[in-house]
Amino acid sequence: MIKKVLIANRGEIAVRIIRACREMGIDTVAICSEADKDALHAQLADETICVGPAPAKDSYLRMDRILSAAYATGADAIHPGFGFLSENSKFADLCKKCNITFIGPSCEVIDKMGNKSEARKTMMEALVPVVPGTKEAVYSSKEGKEIADKMGYPVMIKASAGGGGKGMRIVTSEEEFMHHFETASQEAKNAFGDDTMYIEKYIAKARHIEFQILADNYGNVIHLGERDCSLQRRHQKMIEESPSPAIDDKLRKEMGETAVKAAKAANYCNAGTIEFLLDENNHYYFIEMNTRIQVEHGVTELVTGIDLIKEQIKIAHGEKLSYKQEDIKIEGHAIECRINAENPYKNFTPSPGLVTGFHMPGGKGVRIDTALYTGYKIPANYDSLIAKVMVHGCNREEAIAKIRGVLGELVVEGIDTNIDFQYQLINNKDFKDGNIDTGFIERLLKK
Ligand code: ADP
Repeated sequence: MIKKVLIANRGEIAVRIIRACREMGIDTVAICSEADKDALHAQLADETICVGPAPAKDSYLRMDRILSAAYATGADAIHPGFGFLSENSKFADLCKKCNITFIGPSCEVIDKMGNKSEARKTMMEALVPVVPGTKEAVYSSKEGKEIADKMGYPVMIKASAGGGGKGMRIVTSEEEFMHHFETASQEAKNAFGDDTMYIEKYIAKARHIEFQILADNYGNVIHLGERDCSLQRRHQKMIEESPSPAIDDKLRKEMGETAVKAAKAANYCNAGTIEFLLDENNHYYFIEMNTRIQVEHGVTELVTGIDLIKEQIKIAHGEKLSYKQEDIKIEGHAIECRINAENPYKNFTPSPGLVTGFHMPGGKGVRIDTALYTGYKIPANYDSLIAKVMVHGCNREEAIAKIRGVLGELVVEGIDTNIDFQYQLINNKDFKDGNIDTGFIERLLKK
């Protein structure tokens, strides 16, 4: 078995992975930047190596230093978490070359699914429904406009290398196309160093429904049901739940089988996610595959009882899947709210700084994944996610009541957070009725 795992990440996900390793009797090595020496993950791991200064490009993204840290400590595997190097095929390849197990899929699969227009092509060939749009990548605004004019507006311009909602623009008319194409491709170039674009039909009033996949090295692939991540701001998720209030057992079965087919077409191994958009007529379309553990994996763990991080480690070690599709039972209802250090009333500006007080609620069916503690100084250099509040109830109504209680009780002092904003969302009548789509929050903010 894997004996020592280096966690190439920080914050709550690093803590989550350290805890899973500890349960499995696996030693842990944390890496940290100079700004993170007091961070919880750096304190909890068996060993901690500082890999560079605060900016991520000088520390958490430094493959050479991270691999040296793995060598120096004798780690035999690396868990990349999410963000940072988790979807970097070069890093997965370097791990392999250094004889270190990368806890994730192969570099070939990361490459294939990381390029979103390539992934679309793979899915089209496998007869997985994709959003109507371009078959090939688009290299110029002129070429793009001709395609969009033919397709009819509104359309969505997207970056092949995109992620985190970046390099994406909705275009509602012919006149706007050139301007939006230029700004989206410039954003893509700055963020990903690649301005290859593609065009999709814009799906109005869509829901974001994604399926959790587990796949081993022996061709066994299962899904663990869906997560409804329709509550988004600027194409970034804010609240996730499982199961989705929008789909019935028949559609769940069909979409789940399609997700498994998609993962097989990608030759997938380890934990991954197939993302779909679901339109008002219950037609669903593949949008992308994420080749890593997701922020919102906890809601799936709550309704299935399966520990996804442990499964990732077992699969990476070469074990066969411990479950068959018929073993997977979805029980009750789980909801997650992402708590960010930001001010929703000042255009969601990040609010790093000293946490002067912290009270974490608890109770039956409550799970809070966080790396916060009183006296911790949140650095300004990284993502603003500070806690994931999750609940598990016997049904959606109970889960909503539970998370309302948790958000009402949660206290983070010294910095601004979105706790009150999340509380309002949970109490919104349309949310309670399950009547939401990906544009819900933006419409609410405009009121
Ligand atoms: P990223 O990789 O940046 O997260 P995705 O392709 O996963 O981008 O899309 C993120 C979100 O953007 C989706 O959940 C959805 O809300 C919106 N979106 C993406 N493509 C479309 C589309 N064709 N029509 C409508 N909304 C879309």
